[in-house]
Amino acid sequence: MGRLVVVSNRIADPRKTASGGLAVALGQALEASGGLWFGWSGKVVENGTPGEGDLHLQQAGRVQLATVDLSREDHDSYYLGYSNGVLWPVFHYRLDLADFDAGYVAGYRRVNQMFAHKLAGLLQPDDVVWVHDYHLIPLAAELRAMGCRQRMGFFLHIPLPPPLILAAVPEHDWLIRSLFAYDLVGFQSEADVSHFARYVGTETPADVLGEHEFRAFGKTLRAQAFPIGIDVDEFLELGAGRESQEMYAQMRDEYSRRRLLVGVERMDYSKGLPQRLKAFRQLLQSYPENLGSATLIQIAAPSRESVDAYAALRQELESLCGAINGNFGELDWMPVRYIHRSVARKRLPGLYRAASVALVTPLRDGMNLVAKEFVAAQDPQDPGVLVLSRFAGAAEQMSEALLVNPYDTARTAETIQRALQMPLEERQRRHQVLLAQIRAQDVHWWRERFLASLAAIPAP
Ligand code: UDP
Repeated sequence: MGRLVVVSNRIADPRKTASGGLAVALGQALEASGGLWFGWSGKVVENGTPGEGDLHLQQAGRVQLATVDLSREDHDSYYLGYSNGVLWPVFHYRLDLADFDAGYVAGYRRVNQMFAHKLAGLLQPDDVVWVHDYHLIPLAAELRAMGCRQRMGFFLHIPLPPPLILAAVPEHDWLIRSLFAYDLVGFQSEADVSHFARYVGTETPADVLGEHEFRAFGKTLRAQAFPIGIDVDEFLELGAGRESQEMYAQMRDEYSRRRLLVGVERMDYSKGLPQRLKAFRQLLQSYPENLGSATLIQIAAPSRESVDAYAALRQELESLCGAINGNFGELDWMPVRYIHRSVARKRLPGLYRAASVALVTPLRDGMNLVAKEFVAAQDPQDPGVLVLSRFAGAAEQMSEALLVNPYDTARTAETIQRALQMPLEERQRRHQVLLAQIRAQDVHWWRERFLASLAAIPAP
């Protein structure tokens, strides 16, 4: 296979471990092929011209990093507006939060055109191009319009909603038609693939050629599920590091007389944080033996704070946490420790390991890596229990977790109680199955399977 070119909204220097498993896995593949990683530089030029941005080239080992600046107007319409104000909510089934009328799509299209233009100049004929996520759906169509004939794949990291939800996006037909410029489209779960197949079957003139093959708009496309995993060994190494060990020791000492529950996410309305707090409150009400003991540490790392829907969520969370602590707390016990700051990845394994239960209860999530990280971080002799939303992509793979419907407060509270009381033997058995699963389908498996599927498609 030729040189690998990865395109994503943000890029990471693969040599820095703070970047996480995905960056490490992509970095390794890029390193092996002497590849190129292309994306936004993260810089916003206040008075820049829309549709224009400086290109920066940098060498990181054998990998070339190419980044482009965005003008303020492009950033606000492409990134905050269309990507995170329209596509993100709709693809997470939140039509009520989408801002359809603001005309953001022009900026989204303009930035994709600009990226295609800058990238086309860097491509070699036998490159294999792998584009990531909802910010860049039309990138291949723009590259094809410029005459690029390279093999191109796309991976959607977030869910794809059912056809009638997707159809609420005014540009839905353009978005899906754009996908047909790729040779391979990867989704997180079988549910997403089935939504795609149903959309294509009902809203486009496509012929279904095989289980995963569709032909429309003069192009054949393969669409398949490639559930993303974590780098289990990298995470175990983090767990053995000083920061993680210190975190573990500190938490274990502090909570030696109590039961620790943990939730870790970006502050996002897709994560079901208010519903989770209500379930925790219900736990304290329905099972009073937890009073004075069960403590939920909820990390909600700041995210996209200039998008309006996020400010409302923040207020709701602060008020719920305040009410729970006010109503149930004692002088020596606060039921919820709510932290609106991010925790460094290096410290997370220690926090996970100290917890008896992880609450991973999104209302909708493409995959959810925290669920997998929690399993990886456990002591196999005395593992904690994962309570997982059935609406996370990870639920398709992690059926040995305790699956919940986060909208059902009473049953979720009941399940948390079950997790807190689960006998050691059952915890060990479930953990063993989950660990084997996340090891077998780790981030390297994901990358290799996607790239092998792309390589198996005849060059256009
Ligand atoms: N994370 C982190 N610090 C935090 C919160 C999250 O390092 O304070 C990491 C977490 O370890 C995980 C990632 O951010 O690797 C979140 O990925 P996930 O798939 O769970 O959700 P996303 O944020 O992509 O929706």
